Amino acid sequence: MLVQRTVKVPIHYATTKNKLHVLDRLTARLTYAVKLWSEIIERHGIRTRRKLQQLEYQHSVRDQTGLSAGFVQQCGNQALWMWESYRELHSKWQKVVGKVRARGNESWLRKLLEREPSKPFHGKNSNRKIPTRFDYRTGEVQQSEHAKLSPLLIRVSTLKKHEKLTIFLNPPNYHLEFLKRGEIRDFQLVKHGKKYYAHIVVQYEVEDQPIRAVRGVDLGIRRSAATVLLRPDRPLMRRDFSIIRDGLKRQRLNQLNKRVTELQQNKKWEALKRMRRKRRRVAEYYDRLTANQIADISSECLVVIGYPKWIKYENYRGNGKRKLRRLMTRWTYGRIIRYVREECAEKGIKVIRPDERWSSMTCHRCGSRNTERPTQSAIYCYNCGLVYNADFNAAINIGSSILAEPRSRGVQLNHPELRMNQPERLVSAGAIGL
Ligand SMILES: [Zn+2]
Repeated sequence: MLVQRTVKVPIHYATTKNKLHVLDRLTARLTYAVKLWSEIIERHGIRTRRKLQQLEYQHSVRDQTGLSAGFVQQCGNQALWMWESYRELHSKWQKVVGKVRARGNESWLRKLLEREPSKPFHGKNSNRKIPTRFDYRTGEVQQSEHAKLSPLLIRVSTLKKHEKLTIFLNPPNYHLEFLKRGEIRDFQLVKHGKKYYAHIVVQYEVEDQPIRAVRGVDLGIRRSAATVLLRPDRPLMRRDFSIIRDGLKRQRLNQLNKRVTELQQNKKWEALKRMRRKRRRVAEYYDRLTANQIADISSECLVVIGYPKWIKYENYRGNGKRKLRRLMTRWTYGRIIRYVREECAEKGIKVIRPDERWSSMTCHRCGSRNTERPTQSAIYCYNCGLVYNADFNAAINIGSSILAEPRSRGVQLNHPELRMNQPERLVSAGAIGL
């Protein structure tokens, strides 16, 4: 399996003001080019990379920005990518709006309409700098000859022809290990606050693990994850279930939140900034830990991961579920899933994310959605009478959603005759590239 990993390396603290000024100007110009591209894409309804390559567009951006052809193309790709993700987000949003309209829930609809995703360069953050990719045409990462100052540097083209800018990086040792393992694909220059970082994409080969079972993972609100091991030749047993708890994360974040509130009340802005950064680092640390735990228990598995996707739209402000919303703010499912992918990829374990929206309210035994949650942690099925742990029910649904017949899969897993068929289903899941 080919693994890509992004390593975020700060540029060296001894970088001169002059160089930073050149970088500022370059990144501002690149952002301008992305904006011009964005306008072209909107005006001409461009949806493919091929359309983007039409010479008249390329020339128009080049004339207006004075950038080299390589930069112009990279900015175009960036703009197209921004439009692609906007369109995806917008169509999801539209689907939810349609449903809410059909249900006639006016106050919910109003909240939802306020949250329409905005087009690139139209929204609140339309003035921020857009990081673009540098590849062999516009920049490269090199080993430094002045190893004392820094082992690594980047060289980027500037606004002046034939003039390159050399910037030393300040990589921690564990990043260097990564960079040595693989081939550097490309990098981005990203400004966070006043500091620049090089986000370097490294690519390397990891040996695939064979797939002998499926591990279903449900990310939740009240705990990190509930997981279940689905094996083709065995019914579910107690040891196939595991819960990864986040008590420590919760405790630490609560402490930090308290500090943040105090600093806010005392108007200590600088300290507040530092404290917020610390809170983010702590959250990232615990998410990484969760991801590691999932990877550790998933040898020879296909990991199937799901999360309460619609929860952010459905738990809008003012629907009375304040406590649930407060719990949710701690969760960054996108980040945990990214970490799980990364940690599993390191071990040659594949991860997929099915579109399993109903996993938490579908009965895993009979497939019925006619269910109820008598408590937060239990699910009751009106159709077949099953009473089950709600977290594990969701994890089973997610794990088996990639099997041939998702409905009645609980029966398949427990029924002695049907158990015989399971290996084929797993093989076929592997055969279509999962
Ligand atoms: Zn049922």
